[in-house]
Amino acid sequence: MLKFDPYYFQCPCCQAWLEGRNLKSELVNEAILYSDGKILYDNLITTPQKMVLCPSCGHSFWVERPEEPFITTEKPPVAVYSWNTWRFYGVSFTNNQGKLALIKHYQYFLKKSSYEPKKEIYLRRLLWWAYNDLHRNFHYIRWKYLFNGFMSYGVWSAYRRMLLEGEKLFLKNLKDFNANLNRLLVLLEKHPEEQVDLELPEIHRELRQFETARAILDKASSRTHFTIEMIKRSKWKDSRVFMVTG
Ligand SMILES: [Zn+2]
Repeated sequence: MLKFDPYYFQCPCCQAWLEGRNLKSELVNEAILYSDGKILYDNLITTPQKMVLCPSCGHSFWVERPEEPFITTEKPPVAVYSWNTWRFYGVSFTNNQGKLALIKHYQYFLKKSSYEPKKEIYLRRLLWWAYNDLHRNFHYIRWKYLFNGFMSYGVWSAYRRMLLEGEKLFLKNLKDFNANLNRLLVLLEKHPEEQVDLELPEIHRELRQFETARAILDKASSRTHFTIEMIKRSKWKDSRVFMVTG
């Protein structure tokens, strides 16, 4: 079964055709949610990539609204750049160098120009997630994930090594991580319509402002698994991104 619906669009600079993919909406419920709001399905992020770097000419451009005539679901009768050639700017996530390269791409876009708040929020949110990717799923370093037969020893120990190295790289970049979150916080407070549910307390928690995070959560009208976990981790002074459902 195809998990994605393909679509096609052209680079506004060189007119090269690129293939994009949208996750089929009925599969969204089977996805994994993380506390920072990132959602993964089959290890692929479900948030559309709106900033595209053309694999043919290197021009960067926004795909703001995936609508016709700019975008079509009909495959054009010419050569098309496959999704893998341009998605995440060709970066591979199987090692920390690829994750650092993705961070650099977002930093480059943010430095290159100034954006309207909605676009800056989008880019800073993806930069936030890219930093967190360095130590996302950190719980897998525990021995229990080897002993429950989830992974072979070889896979688990390679993954563990990558996470431990990723944690070091995350801490090395902590100043930039915090600067990005502080700026995102200012933007989201100014534009509440762009806020995602529970995003503000999570930003405060990841900035190690645990009291502020708890004060916001105490005011929340309902208690869910997510809010309970966030309160617990704020009490423990644990600022790391965590898996909410999966
Ligand atoms: Zn191009």
